[in-house]
Amino acid sequence: MSNFIREIIDEDLRVGRHDRVVTRFPPEPNGYLHIGHAKSICLNFGLARDYGGRCHLRMDDTNPETEDQHFVDAIQKDVRWLGFDWGDGFYHAADYFDRFYEAAVHLVRAGKAYVDHLSVDEIREYRGTLSAPGRPSPYRDRPVDENLDLLEKMRVGAFPDGTCVLRAKIDLASPNMKMRDPLLYRIRHAAHHRTGEKWRIYPMYDFAHPLSDAYEGITHSICTLEFENNRELYDWVIEHCPVPARPRQYEFARLQLGYTVLSKRKLLHLVNGKYVSGWDDPRMPTIAGLRRRGYTPEAIRSFCELIGVAKTNSTVDIGKLEFAVRDDLNARCPRVMCVLRPLEVTITNLPGDETIDAPYFPPEIGKAGARPVPLTRSIYIERDDFMRTPAKGFHRLSPGAEVRLRHSYVIRCDEVIERDGEVVALRCTADLDSVRSGRRVKGTIHWVSATQSVPVEVRLYDRLFRVEKPDAEEDFLSVLNPDSLQVLTDCRLEPWAEGERFQFERQGYFAVDPVDSRDGALVFNRIVTLRDSWAAKAEEAAPAPASKKKKEDTRPQKRTAAEFRARARAASPALEARYVRYRDALGLTDEAADVLSGDLALSDFFEAALSAHADARAVANWAVNELQGLLEERSAADLRFDGGALGRLVALVDGGTISGSAGKEVLAELVAQGGDPAAIVERRGLRQVSDEGALAPIVDAVVAEHPDHVARFRAGNAGMLGFFVGQVMKRSGGKADPKRVNELVRARLTTDSAG
Ligand code: ATP
Ligand code: MG
Repeated sequence: MSNFIREIIDEDLRVGRHDRVVTRFPPEPNGYLHIGHAKSICLNFGLARDYGGRCHLRMDDTNPETEDQHFVDAIQKDVRWLGFDWGDGFYHAADYFDRFYEAAVHLVRAGKAYVDHLSVDEIREYRGTLSAPGRPSPYRDRPVDENLDLLEKMRVGAFPDGTCVLRAKIDLASPNMKMRDPLLYRIRHAAHHRTGEKWRIYPMYDFAHPLSDAYEGITHSICTLEFENNRELYDWVIEHCPVPARPRQYEFARLQLGYTVLSKRKLLHLVNGKYVSGWDDPRMPTIAGLRRRGYTPEAIRSFCELIGVAKTNSTVDIGKLEFAVRDDLNARCPRVMCVLRPLEVTITNLPGDETIDAPYFPPEIGKAGARPVPLTRSIYIERDDFMRTPAKGFHRLSPGAEVRLRHSYVIRCDEVIERDGEVVALRCTADLDSVRSGRRVKGTIHWVSATQSVPVEVRLYDRLFRVEKPDAEEDFLSVLNPDSLQVLTDCRLEPWAEGERFQFERQGYFAVDPVDSRDGALVFNRIVTLRDSWAAKAEEAAPAPASKKKKEDTRPQKRTAAEFRARARAASPALEARYVRYRDALGLTDEAADVLSGDLALSDFFEAALSAHADARAVANWAVNELQGLLEERSAADLRFDGGALGRLVALVDGGTISGSAGKEVLAELVAQGGDPAAIVERRGLRQVSDEGALAPIVDAVVAEHPDHVARFRAGNAGMLGFFVGQVMKRSGGKADPKRVNELVRARLTTDSAG
């Protein structure tokens, strides 16, 4: 996918400013990498890969106090796991300490740096404000020799911490505060994880960073937007120090993700305060946490691709990350059955134990593989799949009702066994003919054998924070979600399932926890639910302000759909940004952009459709004109199919596999009962016929039957062509590809004198 940085690189290569691309990812080893870092990693390593260049992994380790080898190791592991390779390009900024010092001496000799004895507070005060220029320090015009002498004394540890600093001498009146004699070095009597006790002074980021880039021959130094003001200083350092190359800095928007925090300081706080079990707690947005939870590198990379690279900050909907992982796991994970909250069921009429050969994947995934599933008289079903008094629309088990056991019989509940008012077991009979007959009942539930299943622990995770923007809170800990972890110890998994990640049917995607699992005592982490249940919950919660409003104003609230959409965007910068993107970048009409960005569920649905089929206008046309009509009052969040399915459907139409009208038929079925477009097309035999062998006889017959019309066409009445195409279409039952029919009819009428 293109972005503004790629455009810059293309231009640099075109005009010969560079003949290769060298980027770098420069983490400070003071914490674990998180999903925001993944965005930067994918960008930097992705550029190097696509342009046949290099990407360095550099430890930005110029601060002795917080850095540690343990973090260095973790960072390397995470970058590798994400699928990137730095080759021999692994560096430490600390390895340049001698060269940084030489560069500082060079600046002092050139009269461009001085040792200042003002305190940190005084320096801040002397620096002035945006509206008032700074004042010179009384030490600013020291002679060069005195500066050289003092700098050397700083280096060897002659002064305690805080006595003095080295500052660049630039411009105290600069509108850019960063240019008002910034600090280059400070004294720190601290051991460094790499250089030990050798240094008593350590360089500042703004000095070390451009020099490191230059020493490594970096061509494009990509950082996040907060560093925009630092760019002038970056260029100043490159210009005034002896360097072998002239890198340039470019800024992009850092990733902010809803319902989590991405600041290493805050993540460290969560770890140290034991709010989570560690850096790799599966609720953490760290790479280590996501890995342990069961995320795949492919899913994280595709998420980074999905969100793109832009120049304005915005919070990304966490639904996008979940979408990316679902999308990846769907094709990857075998389906198995696991009962999370077991309720015992006896199938009273089962003649004996059976073994069912159950496929691992549904047909639309197109993957082979099956495992044996034991069916015994005593089974477990999900507690939730039984209701003593069924609610309206509940199609699972209740007294006297029937349900199908996945891959097996239809059973009917005959008897409910209670103890102290609580349902403890059910007795059911199976319709032993129901596998053969395949007769339909409304519900299908998952189950496991009670005697031949394995007990497992399952950990259900929810968002770590209760609010979308915990960073906006005064105390981010106050909005931690108390229900972010739920441990179920009594779960039962079918016995012969093999793998590390599964879809537990009807429950979600789960992965074996690599840390706490033991032989015979597996622990599973829920990676993600099957659908975005949070969106539905948020919607239920949303009407609150409206009802509050009602108290003040009892008149009926009449608001048009357009007003609702406008309000939704006013409340959500993410939706507002989508509106602009749909209109300006994707070229949708105002109207389509408005509808598709006016409701989070529909908008997410559209995004998902786009990632399955990139023709935005075609997808938007189907989403706005066809789908909206079928939805009526329902929300896109309640659909039985996801946006990906709509995208795939539109792709089938655009690619000519099915006609537009067949597409509408498929969509109607999707809305009514869900499913996969390709599978529906096959089952209903909707594939367009474009094969000449099949169409030519129909064309011939139609032409032969209408000699008058043929004569009129040949006399110059071009409108007759439409008549013939219509006849052929009708006779093909609407399955013929109209474009192909058009060609065949035209060829038949113009080159053949018969008829
Ligand atoms: P924090 O503010 O949490 O300490 P940081 O930016 O200081 O994070 P570094 O280790 O210095 O963390 O970051 C290494 C690289 O990763 C930098 O180039 C930085 O721009 C990039 N990066 C860090 N956080 C994000 C983010 N949320 N989105 C995109 N890139 C990021
Ligand atoms: Mg940093």
